[in-house]
Amino acid sequence: MKDTLFKIEPFEIKEVGVVKELKRGIARIEGLPSCIYGQLIEFGDVTGRKGLVVDFNEKEVMAFILGDEKDIKLGSTVTSRNEVFSIPVGENFLGRVINAIGEPIDDRNPHIENNGFCPVFRRSPGVLDRVPISEQFHTGTKILDSVIPIGRGQRELIIGDRQTGKTTIALDAIINQKDKNVFCVYCWIGGAHSSLMKIIRALEETGALDYTVVVAASASSSAGEQYLAPYVASAVGEYFMYSGRDSFVVFDDLTKHAWIYRELSLLLERSPGREAYPGDIFYLHSQLMERAGRLNAEKGSGSMTFFPIVETLQGDITGYIQSNLVSMTDGQIYISGSLFHEGFKPAIDLGLSVSRIGSKVQSEALREVSDTLRLDYAQYKELLRLMRVKTKLSTEIAEKLRRGEALSRILGQDTHQPVSELAIIILLYAFKRKILEILSPEGLGIFCGQIMGYLEEANPQVLKNLASQKVLSVETKQELDRTFVEFFRAKKVI
Ligand code: ATP
Ligand code: MG
Repeated sequence: MKDTLFKIEPFEIKEVGVVKELKRGIARIEGLPSCIYGQLIEFGDVTGRKGLVVDFNEKEVMAFILGDEKDIKLGSTVTSRNEVFSIPVGENFLGRVINAIGEPIDDRNPHIENNGFCPVFRRSPGVLDRVPISEQFHTGTKILDSVIPIGRGQRELIIGDRQTGKTTIALDAIINQKDKNVFCVYCWIGGAHSSLMKIIRALEETGALDYTVVVAASASSSAGEQYLAPYVASAVGEYFMYSGRDSFVVFDDLTKHAWIYRELSLLLERSPGREAYPGDIFYLHSQLMERAGRLNAEKGSGSMTFFPIVETLQGDITGYIQSNLVSMTDGQIYISGSLFHEGFKPAIDLGLSVSRIGSKVQSEALREVSDTLRLDYAQYKELLRLMRVKTKLSTEIAEKLRRGEALSRILGQDTHQPVSELAIIILLYAFKRKILEILSPEGLGIFCGQIMGYLEEANPQVLKNLASQKVLSVETKQELDRTFVEFFRAKKVI
């Protein structure tokens, strides 16, 4: 009896403000005395139109408008709940395309059942909550997995000129996560809607959309949404990380994110700094990058790997945004426009690309077969340069050139055809045994394309051993050598 007497219905405290000024995606609002930075507000006139608090003083609040601003009018009421901005997350979001406030924008069921909410501006895990990165993140790109290995929880920047295959590398990494228990998030910022549709189609066709969430803010979305998209993408990734799983987030791309933030900041009349970017752009991106990592066992052992993409102008990596991002990631994949035009694809420049977590996370077998590759390749490139002026070749040099040519053929790779770790080990082992440079280009093509299938038929045991131990023991090497010879005879490639 006593209980019912004192029971009160749950109630909600709402503050109400009024729109005083509107300018290109930004609203100046009076009222809302207890708002907080990064909080979501709702415009009263249009159901569901939201805004994000980005600046305030005693009298007024500035907010980015999320969505179309046309139907918001001066004098509209604005309401806020005093809670941090969170988006719905959950398993049912896999396979879906959502906008920057977590609402589905594909043409499937408009209501997604969620498993909870995640704050969009979550603080990154502290040092004590983290453990060192120890497991490899397999991208399926031969050059990366062998020479520039990346760990689960690492941040690796993809940097390069326009139209050189940046998106392709990130997409291939998503496609390669099939059956690897890595949940992917693809974040599209400021690009054309038609290009996004192509990417979604590629994910769908390869079955990768089943374990991927796409967060999209195309060029036609409001500036506020484009600004918000990468934070929402990391919140989605964090849902998987904090529930003890591995996640992978691609930001495509952060150059456009910086542009849109510059535009918004200039409208907010914040003072411009270098290249007219606001002073806090470094903080903005580094705060985002900090959210990746591997959690300790107490926090569930989940991880989040980041592939931010950034564009360069004519290969210049010293631009403000580009050099900022280079300094706040654990390495970069540098994509060279000239290599791409020479036909070496993926056009990864082995000289300028690094991974600071590096070979620590590679399996022993993979490390063994790839330890001299970078040097081999650099020497080959140097020789090629010298050969431009010299015509007569000694046999030693001719042999080195043949070897280098074979290597660049082995490392070449078509789009959306990721290669397994086992296949990389086998191919590079064959290269190390110096049996590939004697083949004709066609013969090499046959070897690269068919050797795995042949091994599965002729010698499945050796593959099984290699897959379980990831070590190239003496017996394994002998078995592989024997099978290679058999393959050469059977396919008549020599
Ligand atoms: P943007 O600057 O427009 O974002 P990008 O750098 O992301 O471009 P992609 O869109 O990935 O580049 O690729 C550009 C073109 O190059 C595409 O047509 C793609 O099919 C082709 N391409 C990329 N990688 C390869 C490859 N490994 N082999 C063959 N073609 C490739
Ligand atoms: Mg791209």
